[in-house]
Amino acid sequence: MIYSEYGKTGAKVSAVGFGGMRFDESKSNEENAQLLLYAQGKGINYFDTAPTYCGDTSEDIFGIALKQMADTRDSYYVSTKGMPVDFDTAGKARAQVEKSMKRLNVDRIDFYHVWCIRRVDQYELAMKKGGQYEGLMKCREEGLIGNIVISTHLPGEKIKNIISKNEFEGVLLGVNILNFPYRWEGIQAAYAAGLGVVAMNPLSGGLIPKHEDKFAFLADGDETPTQAALRFCINCPQITVTLAGFTTKEHIDTACTIADAAKPFTDEDIDRVRTHVSENMNALCTGCGYCLKSCPENIPIANYMQIYNEKVLFNPTEKEMLEKMKFNHEWGLLADRAAGAGDCVECAACEEACTQHLNIIERLKEMDAWEKTLKKK
Ligand code: SF4
Ligand code: SF4
Repeated sequence: MIYSEYGKTGAKVSAVGFGGMRFDESKSNEENAQLLLYAQGKGINYFDTAPTYCGDTSEDIFGIALKQMADTRDSYYVSTKGMPVDFDTAGKARAQVEKSMKRLNVDRIDFYHVWCIRRVDQYELAMKKGGQYEGLMKCREEGLIGNIVISTHLPGEKIKNIISKNEFEGVLLGVNILNFPYRWEGIQAAYAAGLGVVAMNPLSGGLIPKHEDKFAFLADGDETPTQAALRFCINCPQITVTLAGFTTKEHIDTACTIADAAKPFTDEDIDRVRTHVSENMNALCTGCGYCLKSCPENIPIANYMQIYNEKVLFNPTEKEMLEKMKFNHEWGLLADRAAGAGDCVECAACEEACTQHLNIIERLKEMDAWEKTLKKK
């Protein structure tokens, strides 16, 4: 296992983190809890959960395991989260921290996340006077929390802006071998500022293991695309911890074997992957971001095109695509959009800039129709 310091916190954390979002819900909490003990035996010392994960059972599962791990409490780190939209006052934030501590069976949460910042106004809500951040600062002063960190789905440029304000010890963001160019600016900024960087979603929400045949080009030598994707995040020097959502002991073994091998990704390797992804994903948006500044209407083109990738790759039904759009409007890539697909004036500046030569205008028309259908519902 590789260990490194989480930003400037002094915490020496494992490169693989235990993500508590993919337990097998058909199993008992006690049975699932054994996975944490198994992971600890493999050298994992960063355990991340959140209220609501796995039908709101994840913190309870953690609580069962952490009680059994209490005699080694100083050897591992516990992380959980609270959303500013739910806990919008200092008092509510504190009550939620206490609730999580009780469920987790710990007297300290090492890393507490201002959770799921999808839009800048949600960040502003957390930071308002008398809001969540203020409550968390008080918790930190009293030793209930070790570090305050932010979990975000914002694009790199906006993450960079938040980081520059020096309010957080680290950042948790969704990054993987397919979408990293889109998040890279934020990762680099966090790393340069000395923050811990935790990667979630290293397997693109299960997309890579589910469709290994389509992603065969990611693998190097005899590794599988899944192993390549995990290796990308685990060994990336700018990423401190890669959270993998574990369902089985085999999942833990796979991730730990990669961390044990410690085959690093250099800057040259990252450039190679970037080119590789681009060359092998014809007709797909690679998230390179070259189109970002081209749009006079401020349409988040790359975000729309990343969603359209799903259509190109998996040929989903109209209904499935509408569901994906709905999810992305509420939680994902379109939550913070400044303009919609229907605002396109067909100037074609983005198509000229696009490294993949995508027919962006046509795709946006199709996506506009989906957005209109969603509005009618
Ligand atoms: S064609 Fe549409 S999406 Fe592309 S830059 Fe022009 S207005 Fe923006
Ligand atoms: S330039 Fe093309 S490939 Fe790159 S992010 Fe924009 S739409 Fe995607």
